[in-house]
Amino acid sequence: MSHHHHREWASDLAQRFQNLVVSRRRGPQAGSSRPGAPQVPAPSSASNAMSHQDQQLYNMIFALSRTPQQYESQTLQDRALSVIPLDRIYAEAEEKGKADSSWGHQDHVIRALMAWFKNDFFTWVNSPACSRCQGETQGQGAGQPTDQERRDGAGRTEVYWCPHCSRQERFPRYDHPAKLLETRRGRCGEWANCFTLLVRALGSRARWVWNAEDHVWTEVWSEKQGRWIHADSCENAWGTPKVYAEGWGKKMSYCIGFGVDSVQDVTPRYVRTESQSLPRNRGSEETLRKAIVDLNRQLRSHLPPSERAVLEEQDVKELGNLEKLKWNRAHADAIPTKTEELQGRQSGNAEWKRARGEDGKGPGAA
Ligand SMILES: [Zn+2]
Repeated sequence: MSHHHHREWASDLAQRFQNLVVSRRRGPQAGSSRPGAPQVPAPSSASNAMSHQDQQLYNMIFALSRTPQQYESQTLQDRALSVIPLDRIYAEAEEKGKADSSWGHQDHVIRALMAWFKNDFFTWVNSPACSRCQGETQGQGAGQPTDQERRDGAGRTEVYWCPHCSRQERFPRYDHPAKLLETRRGRCGEWANCFTLLVRALGSRARWVWNAEDHVWTEVWSEKQGRWIHADSCENAWGTPKVYAEGWGKKMSYCIGFGVDSVQDVTPRYVRTESQSLPRNRGSEETLRKAIVDLNRQLRSHLPPSERAVLEEQDVKELGNLEKLKWNRAHADAIPTKTEELQGRQSGNAEWKRARGEDGKGPGAA
């Protein structure tokens, strides 16, 4: 095959994958991304009798659930698809599938996506390089976003200084995934935000997982294994939920997974023992549970009863599994820790990890 023909063939193939993904995403299985789905769940009025703190917790859960709603825009998903090298990712998934049948093709596709995302697409930023000399800059704290930065979705902007050029460098922290497809850089927030969008764009069910101690990651529904799988794009980590507690030495209170049709308190998956946990003092457990139940009901209200029943069955199974992990030393010990879960954090510099209690030495360690 001549070079020219090869290129034509490859772009043909890419087009075919693109059509496949789009039709699959819009097919009958993609109930959750059906147009007309309620986009912004609102807290119910039944919550009037709550204490002020419980009301805040309840509202916070509803507010957080809006993040993954953004990923359902077809325009945004199409734009996301256009940046993914589909032929390469599908070829790699095909290859990996031959060697490892414990995961399905869909799992291998997402793993290949994550490897590409970490190695070739997204960049980690400790401090932004000076745009004149490419040298290292020094942090000067938080500044106000400019009007343009705000329009592009920056909630805040960090300001840096290049001592060599006596020049300021700005690092707007963009919250909007469309902008992140262009900037392709950031810390865990930007990584999880953009990666979760790409997972949705490829047609897999995804959860954006929020942690109260300032980390975020993704969970992907494995069709083959019928369960939610931990996926952290910053670390290219797949199915290693104990990595934060065991590898990073991070203590956590709440980890809540937000999907477009499935919200769950998934803390026990990531925090296995009392010594790894921080107090859960944002409100009563009862209120948290109520918020999740109410939210799931709203998110699923437009689905046919049969699809709702499937999701409810999944809830029961997942809750049962999470319950078994909760403070159950014997059960937790029976699950072997993977080597990858003992690994320290790779993303971020030493000082930043220490400040976050993620350097494997515990909070405040020297
Ligand atoms: Zn410079």
